[in-house]
Amino acid sequence: KEKVNFPLNELISEVLNFLYPSILDSKVKIIKENHTKEVFLCGYKDEIRQVLINIIFNAIDVLTPESKNPTIEIILKNINATKVQIDIANNGPEIPANLVQTIFEPFFTTKTLGTGLGLFVCKEIIEKHRGTLTCESQKSRTVFSIILPIQEQSN
Ligand code: ADP
Ligand code: MG
Repeated sequence: KEKVNFPLNELISEVLNFLYPSILDSKVKIIKENHTKEVFLCGYKDEIRQVLINIIFNAIDVLTPESKNPTIEIILKNINATKVQIDIANNGPEIPANLVQTIFEPFFTTKTLGTGLGLFVCKEIIEKHRGTLTCESQKSRTVFSIILPIQEQSN
């Protein structure tokens, strides 16, 4: 397994294509907003893809079946010349303030068939790539924010 440089937009497209059947099934609306120039990441693309898929699957889980107007937003933002932020937001139930850190611990789950490993592994992967993964939750808006270093383009 090798580290590669890859465009963030291409990765997001792959993730959305992969999730397309689940998105249709769940009737969740996905909105993508891009406020960045074309940025490249460096690392294990399959791992970062898995992080995005995990976080979006969690969001689909909390949005179905009862939410009205269930929506997931994927928002790309430039932080500065060296970092990009990927926000994945949903309009599902608030995560209580006392649990917003706990959800990243291994084996914490509120699902009958959950493993509680998803977010733990996501955080490990992002930190291995010298990034951060955090969560903020308010009434009807929960946001997972990934910050990752951008690959300098040499040309
Ligand atoms: P699992 O999906 O197996 O439960 P995760 O580590 O992926 O394990 O998530 C842990 C817990 O965090 C979930 O069981 C759920 O309670 C909470 N959680 C994760 N994502 C969200 C979200 N978008 N909104 C509300 N709660 C969430
Ligand atoms: Mg999960």
